[in-house]
Amino acid sequence: MRIASDISDLAIPTNLRIGFVPTMGALHAGHLELVRIAKRESDFVVVSIFVNPTQFGKGEDFDKYPRNLERDSALAEEAGADLIFSPSVATMYPNSPTHVHVPVVTERWEGAFRPGHFDGVATIVAKLFNIVRPSVAFFGQKDLQQCLVIQRMVSDLNFPIQLRFVPTFREADGLAMSSRNVYLSEEHRALAPEIYRTLLQTAKLIESVGSETRDIPIALVRGRDHLASCGFDVHYFDLVELANLEPIEELGKSAALITAAKLGSTRLIDNFIFSSELVPSFA
Ligand code: AMP
Repeated sequence: MRIASDISDLAIPTNLRIGFVPTMGALHAGHLELVRIAKRESDFVVVSIFVNPTQFGKGEDFDKYPRNLERDSALAEEAGADLIFSPSVATMYPNSPTHVHVPVVTERWEGAFRPGHFDGVATIVAKLFNIVRPSVAFFGQKDLQQCLVIQRMVSDLNFPIQLRFVPTFREADGLAMSSRNVYLSEEHRALAPEIYRTLLQTAKLIESVGSETRDIPIALVRGRDHLASCGFDVHYFDLVELANLEPIEELGKSAALITAAKLGSTRLIDNFIFSSELVPSFA
């Protein structure tokens, strides 16, 4: 495995199926699962490690975001990476006025709570796609809205890239793995799995009420209230259509429960996808 920080040193083979896993480092088992799947489904796997300043808002954790290239490289290599691309901020943003803005799907949820976040994400992913030129790129379903934003961008801007959205990898107690979980205090770490338990309980309730649509808003309020009573500051907890993340009040063929909630200063996001039969990249 090679590690390159300059675009001119990448030397990515042009005759192979290139799998690409963009990350911000601080790799955990969820990231490594993406790398393993990429290895199975392509001939040469590129993992980018770049803490992208433009997707962090003011007062967010850009400065304290965990960085450890040596550890990350060793883990990525073990999982099957052939090349790590770890550029500097100056390499990626020698000048920065051009950006990619994906409309509509960016407006609600994370987009509303983190203004500008998805412009930062879409711009860096577009730049990395043009630099790496992958055949297939792998993203985690944990960041569900990000998957939709990238899907929209790839479609609207005609990137000749296949997308694969990989199911969320979880700790044994159900907590979605995230590089930010290290910020949780011991007490909050013990509480954090309640977010997924509440998603599962609410999903069960929603499935059981079926077409009794007036019961769905009640189930959502119950979920929200339960998390709040446990000490979460709930930013949203909603039922949406998987294809566009618009709120719905009945269970269609492809729906998801999505949530974001803060425990202390740590913001956690998670989701439960009911059915993905209409959206093949979520298989
Ligand atoms: P990040 O380093 O947080 O930007 O994440 C890089 C990629 O890994 C994104 O596509 C994430 O959605 C994905 N990812 C992060 N956490 C998980 C997880 N627990 N399971 C699966 N994929 C994940």
